[in-house]
Amino acid sequence: MGLFGTMPGVSGSIEVVCGPMFSGKTEELIRRVKRAQIARQKVQIFKPAIDNRYHETEVVSHSSQSMEATPVNSSVEILQRVFDSTRVVAIDEVQFFDENISIVVEKLARRGIRVIMAGLDQDFRGLPFGPMAALLAIADTVDKIHAICTVCGAGASKTFRKNPKESTQVLVGETDLYEARCRAHADFFGEDEDQLAFFSNLNANLNDSRSKTKNL
Ligand SMILES: [Zn+2]
Repeated sequence: MGLFGTMPGVSGSIEVVCGPMFSGKTEELIRRVKRAQIARQKVQIFKPAIDNRYHETEVVSHSSQSMEATPVNSSVEILQRVFDSTRVVAIDEVQFFDENISIVVEKLARRGIRVIMAGLDQDFRGLPFGPMAALLAIADTVDKIHAICTVCGAGASKTFRKNPKESTQVLVGETDLYEARCRAHADFFGEDEDQLAFFSNLNANLNDSRSKTKNL
């Protein structure tokens, strides 16, 4: 802070790192947090209390890098827990938060805080996950990062659930339940495509019989 209150050029920001499972979102979040800490900025890390797959109070990436994180039950709880001296707020698994999360991060950014979030942009059906569509819209920067498709080795932007019959959106990330897939190998809409194929066959048959009638 200078003589004039806020320093020129110092304002808050909203950053989203998103992508499918196994894309390294949490590693990227941890990387940004470490750089802020090297710059001696006070950082607080939060995660939803639901994400207890590895550790209650740590952010843990699939490659087992970890950092202390405060589990919270709602997005408003983040507002209550951020200290005045905090310059950077990092939030992992942000897709699990309620819809108020976008209001919360806007408020933090308006207070001059840099907010960095990591989360799944899409659920296993390829649809926007929880509050992510809103967060991507209000973010200053968005990085969509890719995993590797387990079928063909191409860049993967989708999370594929091996057993799609279980229909709850929130299944906390067990490695063996999910795979990263490219668009071609994430067959979310198999049934729709079958229907499309059925109707286009029907049309072809109709056209066939019409042309036959004409030839008679
Ligand atoms: Zn593929």
